[in-house]
Amino acid sequence: MSSSHYGNYNWHYITTSNSITSPYGPRGSGFHYGFDIGVMLEPAYAMSAGVVRLAGWSNTAGNWVVITSNDTDTNGNEFTARYLHLDGYVVWTGKSVVRGEYLGDTGNTGDSTGYHLHFDVNNGLFINGSDLTQSNTIDPVLFWPNRNFTYPSPLSSGESANADLDLSTAIPDYLIDYVGQTTFQDWVDSTPKEDAVLVNFLSNFDIDPEDMDDIRDDFFEKMNNQ
Ligand SMILES: [Zn+2]
Repeated sequence: MSSSHYGNYNWHYITTSNSITSPYGPRGSGFHYGFDIGVMLEPAYAMSAGVVRLAGWSNTAGNWVVITSNDTDTNGNEFTARYLHLDGYVVWTGKSVVRGEYLGDTGNTGDSTGYHLHFDVNNGLFINGSDLTQSNTIDPVLFWPNRNFTYPSPLSSGESANADLDLSTAIPDYLIDYVGQTTFQDWVDSTPKEDAVLVNFLSNFDIDPEDMDDIRDDFFEKMNNQ
């Protein structure tokens, strides 16, 4: 099968620049599972209609948004796309988004060495929010076959080659809201990078993991009623 069929989904382009600062593919001794677009504080847009599977924080991804598309591939697998290193986000976990919806501004948060948008697409089955695997990524340029992407000189910026794919370590927005943004930021600032993960967050703030669903539902209701 030709890979060009991805263009048929007619996805909305994700930001304002065609400048790829680090392409999909081998990078250094590793592999870069998405592409980096050289933008600073520019809008990021939902590539298609779908659902926000996670908006929140991870130490590698920074502020990030994960969207599962309503589109599926030819095998029926969901497409899930990740937007990393955002300056912030205006959507929330569980929110439905329309094609081209504004998600937030691109930034330089998390494990990132300069302003850029890392975007990747995965078509692995998505189970309980955490079954993304790096082997199922697709070069994002295939979704926009008619765009005139520009490519960098080989020395380029970029985040770590393996930006965290594990949603289970990320702090979702509803928990950040629950403890308060300022309190959350204080915790991030005072916690060693490798320790600022969900399990430690829950324990630090005395949150019973079994209460997460209720906290999420309350948050979702609040956001949808605004
Ligand atoms: Zn990247």
